[in-house]
Parts: sequence; C-alpha cells; structure tokens
Amino acid sequence: MSNICKAFEMTDTKEQREHFSKLEVVERFGDECNGKDLYKHHEGCRILKRCPECDALVLCQYSVLHFYEDENYTDYFSVASREEAVELNEKYDGYEIEKEFKGKKILR
Ligand SMILES: [Zn+2]
Repeated sequence: MSNICKAFEMTDTKEQREHFSKLEVVERFGDECNGKDLYKHHEGCRILKRCPECDALVLCQYSVLHFYEDENYTDYFSVASREEAVELNEKYDGYEIEKEFKGKKILR
C-alpha cells in the first residue's frame, strides 16, 4: 500500500479536517521510543492510522502544550508502510520528525 491520502492535497482546512476525522486507528505507538519523545511540547503520542477512503496510511503525532489552557497540535505524515512509521519512531523525536520527514506532511 503506497497510496497517499488526498487530504494532504486539500487547501480547504475545514474539508481537510473532516477528511482526517475519518481515519481509523491501525496501531498506537505510545509516547516514547529509544528514549525519544514521540511528541512536541509537554505530552502526546503517535498513532498510525489508515484512511478508509484513500486506502492510505497516515502517521499522526499528537502533542499537548500546557499553557493557560491546554493547546492541542496534530502533525500528519504520509507513510507507505507500518515499517516506515516504526523507523520514523526509532529515528526522530517530536521536533526532529517535523524537520527531517521528506514526504507529504501537514504540521500544526
Ligand atoms: Zn484519505
């Protein structure tokens, strides 16, 4: 499976959010790998998800910033396989993956 979820090409943020809300959980990777945090800011986690419409895999990185109120951020990375997602977890922490990932991504 090496399809790319069409949400990565969407320019309308609302439409994009709606599409991403249909993603289904494939595997939860938790919040740490090899001593690296799998999130930015204060807490979070990574979850591999699948888009049922595009039959594509998306690695989602959820991060929470504790400020006056909690602020939630989600990064989306288009991955071709579970193996690619695992490799990214092993190599990059929450900030590094944003910089180093070369494929389609949406950072927020
Ligand atoms: Zn999709």
